[in-house]
Amino acid sequence: NPVRLQAITDVEAYVPPAPSFSPGETPGDIFGMNVFSKTVMQKRLPKSVYRSVVATIENSETLDPQVADSVASAMKDWAIEKGATHYAHVFYPLTGFTAEKHDGFFDPVGDGTALAEFAGKTLVQGEPDASSFPNGGLRNTFEARGYTGWDVTSPAYILENPNGNTLCIPTVFISMTGEALDHKTPLLRAQQAMAVHAERVLTLFGHTPSAVVSYCGPEQEYFLIDRHFFVARPDLLSSGRTLFGAKPPKGQEFDDHYFGAIPERVLGFMADTERELFKLGIPAKTRHNEVAPGQFEIAPMFEAANVGADHQQLLMTTFKTVARKHGMECLFHEKPFEGVNGSGKHVNFSLGNATEGNLLLPGDTPHDNAQFLVFCAAVIRAVHLYGGLLRASVASASNDHRLGANEAPPAIISIFLGDQLAGVFEQLAKGPATSSKGRGTLQIGVDTLPVLPTDPGDRNRTSPFAFTGNRFEFRAPGSLQSVAGPMTTINAIMAEALDHIATKLETALEIGTEFNEAVQALLTELITDHGSVVFNGNGYSDEWQVEAAERGLPNLRTTLDALPELITDASVQLFERYGIFTESEAHSRYEIGLEHYTQSIMVEALSTLEIGQTSVLPAGVRYQTELATNVTALTAAGVAADLDLLEEVTSVIGDLRSGIGALRTAIEVTHPADDALAEAAHAQSALLPAMATVRAAADALESIVADDLWPLPTYQEMLYIL
Ligand code: ADP
Ligand code: MG
Repeated sequence: NPVRLQAITDVEAYVPPAPSFSPGETPGDIFGMNVFSKTVMQKRLPKSVYRSVVATIENSETLDPQVADSVASAMKDWAIEKGATHYAHVFYPLTGFTAEKHDGFFDPVGDGTALAEFAGKTLVQGEPDASSFPNGGLRNTFEARGYTGWDVTSPAYILENPNGNTLCIPTVFISMTGEALDHKTPLLRAQQAMAVHAERVLTLFGHTPSAVVSYCGPEQEYFLIDRHFFVARPDLLSSGRTLFGAKPPKGQEFDDHYFGAIPERVLGFMADTERELFKLGIPAKTRHNEVAPGQFEIAPMFEAANVGADHQQLLMTTFKTVARKHGMECLFHEKPFEGVNGSGKHVNFSLGNATEGNLLLPGDTPHDNAQFLVFCAAVIRAVHLYGGLLRASVASASNDHRLGANEAPPAIISIFLGDQLAGVFEQLAKGPATSSKGRGTLQIGVDTLPVLPTDPGDRNRTSPFAFTGNRFEFRAPGSLQSVAGPMTTINAIMAEALDHIATKLETALEIGTEFNEAVQALLTELITDHGSVVFNGNGYSDEWQVEAAERGLPNLRTTLDALPELITDASVQLFERYGIFTESEAHSRYEIGLEHYTQSIMVEALSTLEIGQTSVLPAGVRYQTELATNVTALTAAGVAADLDLLEEVTSVIGDLRSGIGALRTAIEVTHPADDALAEAAHAQSALLPAMATVRAAADALESIVADDLWPLPTYQEMLYIL
């Protein structure tokens, strides 16, 4: 096949682009150069305006209209100096991708010239047509207008393009009636709710708290393959993962890729992405090879969750663009290749503020430790009560290929604390410290904690929610998804737990209980009620499945098991109570989750059908003909012909044809238009197995058909030729 074999030749002839950093240029020189940061504002805004903006940012308030005019004008001048011709409100609709609508700065003024215009109200609010974005039944198309509004806490930035730069303004996206149509709005709401109750708890510990922030450090895994192979794989083009492909002779069994020397070509790509990220003020920090061949990871430094979420989206776009410049395609799908590890996006979560620092960092004094234990106990309560919701926050058709597959955490959401911290909570569970036998020995306000290890070697990598010394690492999010969803959920459930804790302590103090005693009693109660979510063992084991069931922890294996968690009474009450979703918003997310699930699988099914029918089957038939011709020729020449191979090929072709037929039938089944659940269930129970049958026959064919007839780049070529 010319396309596939030509691709191999072309890859070998690849010449890398020039190095990205110019000689002598350091990351420090360019960091944040394209960001309208506080420093830039301080230089360009009148003092009073600057102070007002900073106060707005710190208190997450809305901007005063007069201040907005002044900021807009400074922002416009700055952007035009930086070569911007357009501005765009950037938002994050429920497609999971980033959306932007560009407008030119220049307006004609009547005398034949044009003047740059950018008013405060244009900065603060936009009105894109929202009819083409998923809304899960929230809006009728006749009132399709949506609003974008600047999220002042996430700075504006310049996106460079050789054809003119764009000033980008991170915004929320809401309907005319104020319903959230995006990933950012609920995250901002959840962060605020969490902060309110965290501040109540801090006040009880005797602090005058400054605003509490939730932090997010996302670790992004991804694959790189040469673009020549990518464009020759219609399955990767349409669905981001390979729907066909026999196992290569060499997989990841040697563990020779993880943390290995980074290939030179990939290093060039990484340096280039980092340079772009630095310009945007994205603190790229760690880079390394991952477990699977062709798999890598980047981890930026943690940031405030909403800024981190915006930066994460920008990072993915940047990676896609830069990869192409380097002749490669960056794959963010959770499972692009069967048989080797998939990709996740670990989300590291902590909370803190300017005065107290990280609230999940064990302290030096008994008082600090009591506070640390209370915030830890909040996490334990939150994850125990709403594990199902956390599972739902990472549910997608693509992440189903990864969760529970012995490379990613199981679908059971539990917490790993490590032996020392788990030991502390076990002491607390025994009740107040006394000298009498059988009671705990840890006395809050008096005793210090044992030293908790922060050594990564000690970590349990099979746990979905692991304490790692000063933060919790949520390992279930998929590599493709926005971190906003999981971060919204974590903040929402933390808001509930901290509210519960603050109320308990306030009540205890009101009736005259001594503070440390109240804290001790509270911790005992929390760990007694919610300790069953703590699990330090092997999450991949079969025993854990059984034990988790005995503990009453949900095991929501697939997206369809998990999504209904979004609309349970308990979830809707939580969302409404903390102002994160109204009931109809929660339902819309559920509907969109189902639709997205069905659509992704339907695209894969159609792609399987097309590739099976028009590429794989013809390759099989050609080879079959070649063999049949050979048999005829041999027989005519009086040589005994061996029919085994021809019969084998014929039999596999038969399997393929019947598989294709069954898949076609399954695709044609229709459901009532309003029954999203039935459609999703059909995708799961009929389309996925039918696709697997087609694939099994095709992969069998791949291993017997003559190599020069095979149309699709093989796993070996895609994973090893870079
Ligand atoms: P590992 O692979 O060992 O988990 P990495 O270095 O790959 O560690 O990633 C750790 C991530 O956790 C980084 O994004 C880092 O910034 C983030 N992180 C570190 N400290 C905190 C914290 N206090 N809160 C949130 N995230 C944090
Ligand atoms: Mg990690």
